[in-house]
Amino acid sequence: METSKSNYWHSRAQRVIPGGVSSPVRAFKAVGGTPRYFVSGAGSRVTDVDGNNYVDLVGSWGPMIVGHAHPKVVEKVSAAMSKSFSFGAPHPNESLLAESISQRVSAAERVRFVSSGTEAVMTAVRLARGATGRALIVKFSGCYHGHLDSMLVSAGSGVATLGLPNSPGVTAGQVADTVVLEYNNFDELNELFSERGSEVAAVITEAAAANMGVVPPLDGFNEQIAKLCAMHGALMILDEVMTGFRVSRAGWWGKYGSGWQPDLITMGKVIGGGLPLAAVAGRAEIMDLLAPLGSVYQAGTLSGNPVATSAGLATLELLDQDAYDLLDKRAGEIGDAISGALNGHVVQHSYQVAGNLFSFFLGCSRVTNYAQASTQDQTAFKIFFNSMLDNGVSIPPSAFEAWFVSTAITDSDVETIALAADRAARSVA
Ligand code: PLP
Repeated sequence: METSKSNYWHSRAQRVIPGGVSSPVRAFKAVGGTPRYFVSGAGSRVTDVDGNNYVDLVGSWGPMIVGHAHPKVVEKVSAAMSKSFSFGAPHPNESLLAESISQRVSAAERVRFVSSGTEAVMTAVRLARGATGRALIVKFSGCYHGHLDSMLVSAGSGVATLGLPNSPGVTAGQVADTVVLEYNNFDELNELFSERGSEVAAVITEAAAANMGVVPPLDGFNEQIAKLCAMHGALMILDEVMTGFRVSRAGWWGKYGSGWQPDLITMGKVIGGGLPLAAVAGRAEIMDLLAPLGSVYQAGTLSGNPVATSAGLATLELLDQDAYDLLDKRAGEIGDAISGALNGHVVQHSYQVAGNLFSFFLGCSRVTNYAQASTQDQTAFKIFFNSMLDNGVSIPPSAFEAWFVSTAITDSDVETIALAADRAARSVA
């Protein structure tokens, strides 16, 4: 496959951008080779600067759920852009999108827009501490909640991909009030609350962990978090930045959350349709502690930007029940085809699913936590990844990330993926 132009741009980028990238996993460090410089996308496919065309199973890490440059999204965004990009003032789109989110997710009584998932989590953590007057935040190893200091402990995603220790630059003081527990471990959770329940401001968890590869919560795990938080006067922050509006029109909680409710929910990715937009949402009495009503501070020059909110509105409008049925169908077809190919070539793996998110742990049996996820065969994944790419399928360049389908995937794309997977599985076997 011709990659000379991607090579050229990457050499140029490395001279002025650390590692040549604006976000670490994009550098292909874990999988080797040259990161592809994508310059256009249409529907399910992306094209790189050398003219190579790929089926896209990264989808910008989630936002491109209706495919690239969907005509209805392009139309709305173009109309918004033609009236200026930003005013730094309230805009009707914000109310429309907040209403749309609230209608879909009943736990989102109020919505405050920010520009990234990191900011949403940062605001939720501050809000939880402000609301409870407590300091302690509990997180789970292998879960990723963005790159704010207090969450960069035993984090998933790029931190896991690169095998980094906790980040230099994050001081002991900044993480002194973060407690890390093992994901899906009921005993550790119960013990923490029985020993320190009155100190806990919040427990934050990915609605379904998908930043250490896909590791769904065990039955009752999220519910147990909600129950313990309620019993001890702590808040539950459900991080739906990845799952929100992806696994159902009401996110993970809306589909699988019967009988319990988070206090705060963080959202991102899909709600911006590919433009920078995220949100913190939740119970009115907590959310109304945010300035200017309350005194917990949060602000942003571009927050609730009219162009980003127009992309979010257009994207959500396209996501009716038929769209979710289609996403589930495509995820099943693709996941089954890949797992089938791996089985066909006798490659041991665990195929893990959370709604329409899925990933594969090579060399593993079932994975329920980060310690197990870390035992996967990353060398085999590297070979698998490069073979998929060479055969025209772009998958996440990391064994610790979820794969993302879009409604634009076609039958012929599924065939391309199945063929590529057969070759990739053979190269790993
Ligand atoms: N929370 C979760 C669950 C995520 O998956 C991510 C990003 O992947 C974030 C938070 C951070 O979002 P952002 O990259 O927009 O800052």
